[in-house]
Amino acid sequence: MQVFQRQEHGISRKDISENALKVLYRLNKGGYDAYLVGGGVRDLLLHKQPKDFDIATNATPEEIKSLFRNCRLIGRRFRLAHILFGRDVIEVATFRGHHSDVPAKVEIKDKADEKGKQQVSSKSQEGMLLRDNVYGTIDEDAERRDFTINAMYYSAKDFTVTDYANGVEDLNNRIVRLMGDPETRYREDPVRMLRAVRFAAKLDMTIEEKTAAPIEELAPLLRDIPSARLFEESLKLLQAGQGLATYKLLRQYNLFQQLFPILADHFTEDHSSQTEQMIEHILAATDKRIAEDKRVNPAFIYAAMLWYPLTTRAEEISFASGLAFYDAFMVAANDILDEQVRSIAIPRRHTTTVRDIWQQQIRFSRRSGKRAFKMMEHPKFRAAYDFMEMRSHFEGDDIVELTSWWNEFQNSDRPLRGKMVQEVNDDGGRRPRRRRPQRRKKPQAKTSS
Ligand code: ATP
Ligand code: MG
Repeated sequence: MQVFQRQEHGISRKDISENALKVLYRLNKGGYDAYLVGGGVRDLLLHKQPKDFDIATNATPEEIKSLFRNCRLIGRRFRLAHILFGRDVIEVATFRGHHSDVPAKVEIKDKADEKGKQQVSSKSQEGMLLRDNVYGTIDEDAERRDFTINAMYYSAKDFTVTDYANGVEDLNNRIVRLMGDPETRYREDPVRMLRAVRFAAKLDMTIEEKTAAPIEELAPLLRDIPSARLFEESLKLLQAGQGLATYKLLRQYNLFQQLFPILADHFTEDHSSQTEQMIEHILAATDKRIAEDKRVNPAFIYAAMLWYPLTTRAEEISFASGLAFYDAFMVAANDILDEQVRSIAIPRRHTTTVRDIWQQQIRFSRRSGKRAFKMMEHPKFRAAYDFMEMRSHFEGDDIVELTSWWNEFQNSDRPLRGKMVQEVNDDGGRRPRRRRPQRRKKPQAKTSS
């Protein structure tokens, strides 16, 4: 353990969020130890803006709650305090201790207890930690953390940084190093494999040899992680500014394949399949948008990554069952999403958008009559159009032509739009239009049907 004084580490109070400082001061005043820890300290030492500030303390959650009016206790596996300042949330965790393997009831649902078996240990058969709510000292807390660069504690009382595992040195040498025995630590929590890759890509660091060695083989352990947690992780991996670099590393370590088994079926030696090109394209575009401070839509990214697996599946279904392509396409869309949410629980609000974007790709070619006008009113029209534009980089002339038609249509005035549709109608299109008998207008007010 090493302690760095204020003048040695260069972290200044003005780099730390006011709210985080308030929490540190209040805990100190209440007679507790409190430290900034984890990514906050790591990023400040790297002169990067931390994403969030996490605090560790020897106060219990109840004691924290009694100090702050704006405090909410959350979590079952880890009990944590959230101190709320409007939209800003400061997370405060009580120092965690070691586990004794005393008989304990499982508190989270785990694959191992699916059949109603009761666990008699805080670890599952695979060595995964099922409970993590034993309080401890700061030394124990440091040992329980994942990487050396994440086990540094900043005190607002004396402005020191306490470095438990030579994190400062690893930070200077740009090394991601797991604390303790890597295999044991990965078995305790397989998500640490994803975190190793995430920090390496995000901080442009190298994963130390012993830390890297077991990953490829242990990667399948990720299949035991609850899909909701993997959804959260997938956002941090792919939508935090270094998505492309992260994807390449994840793939190298056999981790991406666990998160997206459907995509893995489309992987090639030389990364040349349409699916792989699309993945690289969408992640590069996402990184660029984030660099420009623009918003990114997770649904768009999932829709893009899964697009060619979807069209391949639709063709297979159509061929095998004789269903019309449109119907086969809708069946395939449901299948693909059902399969994907098994590993990553993409929330329904996103899968709905994914399905909308996909469905409209089929509808873009049906432009006759009022259809084109109707399509433009769809709330997801813009996303769907952008999606088609993206596809036009990978697919044939048809889609290029269609994209340019829609581009012109959007940018025309009403009479011109009418003319464009008329041309489609006259052309007969590739899909001859069946005329429905004209319905006579009813004199009454419209009913909503
Ligand atoms: P960032 O917030 O920039 O993504 P971070 O390191 O702060 O990175 P968090 O998920 O916010 O990551 O976690 C805060 C700290 O909690 C980490 O720095 C680490 O010390 C500890 N930690 C988080 N997840 C784990 C884990 N799975 N195993 C052990 N320690 C962990
Ligand atoms: Mg953090």
